[in-house]
Amino acid sequence: MSRRKDWDTYFMDIAYMASTRSQCSRRRVGAVLVQGKKLLGSAYNGAPMGVPDCSEAGCMLVEEFEVKLVEGREEMVKKQRCIRTIHAEQNLLLFTDRSDREGSTVYVTDQPCWTCANMLANSGVVEIVYHRPYPKDKEKVTEMMVTRGIRFRQLADYAPPAGTISEVTN
Ligand SMILES: [Zn+2]
Ligand SMILES: [Zn+2]
Repeated sequence: MSRRKDWDTYFMDIAYMASTRSQCSRRRVGAVLVQGKKLLGSAYNGAPMGVPDCSEAGCMLVEEFEVKLVEGREEMVKKQRCIRTIHAEQNLLLFTDRSDREGSTVYVTDQPCWTCANMLANSGVVEIVYHRPYPKDKEKVTEMMVTRGIRFRQLADYAPPAGTISEVTN
């Protein structure tokens, strides 16, 4: 039995395919730009061109404290994050034209971080669709998208294509 995929699934699948190009073992993120039903660009997180990436030079780790809910109480939790890469959303903006982005939709495997969300909000994009949640910045990002009038939604029932997911170590 073959069922034709809906457009959300189709474009999110492509975002996940793009994410497999990432060389960061800690986080692989893919993003695509869609205008109407037309694919206008794809990107993943990575080091700048010609610069050693995470697979060659290792991840560049920083430690940060995050507020996390533990058994209903807020706690400060220390977390490591790789800062070697340009985020997928930022690469997508670097590789696409402003005129193509006006009124467009971005499909991204992971909920954008605060910095990427701010850049997307000023990029001409009118809709952002993501799959995996990113709790750290969820509240302020969601609030900002509402204020900015950008449609912001999660594909909750979506399942990525086989072989596109790698374990994210934290
Ligand atoms: Zn890395
Ligand atoms: Zn980001």
